[in-house]
Amino acid sequence: MALIVQRPLGTEDITPSQIYKWQTVEKIAKDTAGVFGFKEIRFPTFENTDLFLRSVGETTDVVQKEMYSVIAKESRFTLRPEGTAGTIRAVIQNGMLNDALPQKVFYITSCFRHERPQAGRLREFHQFGCEMAGSQSPAADAEMISLADSFLKRLGLKNIELNINSIGCPTCRAKYHKELKAFFEARKAELCETCQSRLEKNPMRILDCKSPVCSEIAKDAPLILDYLCDDCSEHFEKLQAHLKTLGISYKINPKIVRGLDYYTKTVFEFITTDIGAQGTVCAGGRYDGLVSELGGPQTPALGFAAGLERLIMTMEKQGCDFMEDKKCELFIIPMGDAAFDYTLNIAGKLREEGYRVEYDLMGRGIKAQMKYANKLGALYTMVIGDNELEAKKAKLKNMQSSNETEIALDDKFTDNFSNEILSVILELDD
Ligand code: ATP
Ligand code: MG
Repeated sequence: MALIVQRPLGTEDITPSQIYKWQTVEKIAKDTAGVFGFKEIRFPTFENTDLFLRSVGETTDVVQKEMYSVIAKESRFTLRPEGTAGTIRAVIQNGMLNDALPQKVFYITSCFRHERPQAGRLREFHQFGCEMAGSQSPAADAEMISLADSFLKRLGLKNIELNINSIGCPTCRAKYHKELKAFFEARKAELCETCQSRLEKNPMRILDCKSPVCSEIAKDAPLILDYLCDDCSEHFEKLQAHLKTLGISYKINPKIVRGLDYYTKTVFEFITTDIGAQGTVCAGGRYDGLVSELGGPQTPALGFAAGLERLIMTMEKQGCDFMEDKKCELFIIPMGDAAFDYTLNIAGKLREEGYRVEYDLMGRGIKAQMKYANKLGALYTMVIGDNELEAKKAKLKNMQSSNETEIALDDKFTDNFSNEILSVILELDD
């Protein structure tokens, strides 16, 4: 059978047979954010394009090459390529900065970027992100890294390397930009077209270019770490002292500059070598200029985002545990119309109390129903036929042990009846 319309390139379906992996990661994300006191925030899938031009930055790959934008009734909208801009816009717009600081929020959301699809690089992907606004202390940087680190550890991941760097503030960057410009100017003709245009406006973006020629040239470029002002150096030192106290190992990687313009001071990436070239599973940093850039009060802020697809790929590769899907607790097998009516009633009663109860809807025979119950992984089955109805007794079968327990059938489907089933289930579980 040929499907008439297929899903777009670079997008994925998550089928019910795989959803438990996503639910595991999402639950651990929420739990970890929760223990650090971060609350969930939700924001629109699309925003005014200007939001991303101002925040992500006009000379970034994201804005120059990857955004999905539409003009609708003369307004320009863009599907969110990342979550920080929308979050900070929402934090400002909802007056959250007037509340006690720091504000700490998280999201689990889809993002859209027009990239060349490959393993770990999709056009629709998902991020777990955490953002904090209000603290300029290096303790906040350590807190964010600690949150990300706990999250990755709770997922059961191993061999993830934390790389940190500082990319300074506008003060130290002014001098660095000059040096960097001079460096790239000398080899301008070899740079890709985009980077040639970046040379004037934002030479640091060249360090982040994915083109092989540009990245080869960038290898010998001057390093921002050598140009940090006293304030930024001290911030970076204190962060490292906190990380040591927290027992979080890290590597200083002066090459990390991050692909979005809003970063200042601390930047970091958690990297695995287990899933090939796209090994950054989590990345973030401080962005002290973003809130004011978007029209809010000058407010230091920072955050990170982890790519869920890459995390799940790494977990699969490393054989990490996922939460098991909840199984059907009772599969009822009625024989005959009277038994079927009875089944509808018991199932209804038990479902009201929260039990996962199913019965055949395909008109199968008893054997085929048993087989289906097995396939579902049902914990218990109960056959109800005319004999059982007459004797007011049926057998509840534990599908794992094959133990059977007789229970009384109650005509009135009272609480007693479901309590009896429950007590048997509990007993058999012992
Ligand atoms: P990369 O250098 O891999 O392109 P990036 O710097 O563009 O990453 P961020 O914007 O920092 O990535 O996004 C944070 C995280 O989201 C990344 O570390 C990665 O795990 C994930 N991510 C980013 N882009 C994609 C994508 N196209 N497909 C899948 N995951 C992605
Ligand atoms: Mg990218």
